[in-house]
Amino acid sequence: MSKNKRTRREFVLSGLALGSITASSGLLANCAKEDPADEEETIQLLSQDGQLVEVPKSQITATVPDTSAITNKEAREGIKGKKFVMVVDLARCKNELKCQSACNKMHFLPEDRSFIKVKKMQDAENTAPYWQPTLCLHCDEPPCVKVCPVDATFKRRDGIVLIDNERCIGCRFCMAACPYTARVFNWSEPELPLEVLQKEYSPENSVPAKCGTVEKCDFCPHSIRKGELPECVSACPNGVFYFGDLNEDTVTNGDETVRFSELIRDRAGYRLMEDLGTKPSVYYLPPSDRLFPFEEPQTDNSEES
Ligand code: SF4
Repeated sequence: MSKNKRTRREFVLSGLALGSITASSGLLANCAKEDPADEEETIQLLSQDGQLVEVPKSQITATVPDTSAITNKEAREGIKGKKFVMVVDLARCKNELKCQSACNKMHFLPEDRSFIKVKKMQDAENTAPYWQPTLCLHCDEPPCVKVCPVDATFKRRDGIVLIDNERCIGCRFCMAACPYTARVFNWSEPELPLEVLQKEYSPENSVPAKCGTVEKCDFCPHSIRKGELPECVSACPNGVFYFGDLNEDTVTNGDETVRFSELIRDRAGYRLMEDLGTKPSVYYLPPSDRLFPFEEPQTDNSEES
């Protein structure tokens, strides 16, 4: 895998971060490459007929507004025309926790709190254990949203479930309602750098964080608006996380851009606790044909299932 040769942060969903695409029409999604210094940087785009085409980056114009300009109303509505999904490939996870540390850094989380947890799982006594990253699954029927008495947590039209910490009263009903224990409570006054404290609060990214409120994975919507992948996707060296748009039937882990429906069909993708009817936006691929043998960590940095 050649991840380091690519600018994995620079993932773009068409119509989201591309103001105009002059090289080709009907393009669905892309991931950018860092080229050798003497060559013009190019972008890979997936055409509607499933072909990857490469165009000079200079031909693509970004028109995404700065996230600081996102109004509360826009933050609550989400990005028009999009329906974000994630696929987690359990065959590739070796518990390196790069996803977790990148997420913590992005969200200014202390060491004892994280939105991503990697759990040791074992389906039966005679099967090998495996690692399972867990995060908010951005359910389409989110029980957490239904129980919030002050409308602090909400589901956007692009599928992302967020929390407005200016509305959150810390009752923790949502934590009790979430069957995936995806939410965490902020018990202490967050230690944030001055520039973060001075930022204007936006429910889009819940920064600056507030003591006495509930937090969780937010799919990094501020990054998505800029045409970038969520932090965990970019940070994983093994391509565990695919992210993309259900409406375009396309997901990418930064190296591979594939049809979402084909990935789920061909690899027998599934959702956690499907019978609960929560309809998660996060799918899992079973840990078959594993890239790595299972190894216990040197220090206990995981959670037992
Ligand atoms: Fe809500 Fe939990 Fe579903 Fe996330 S995983 S949307 S917190 S119920």
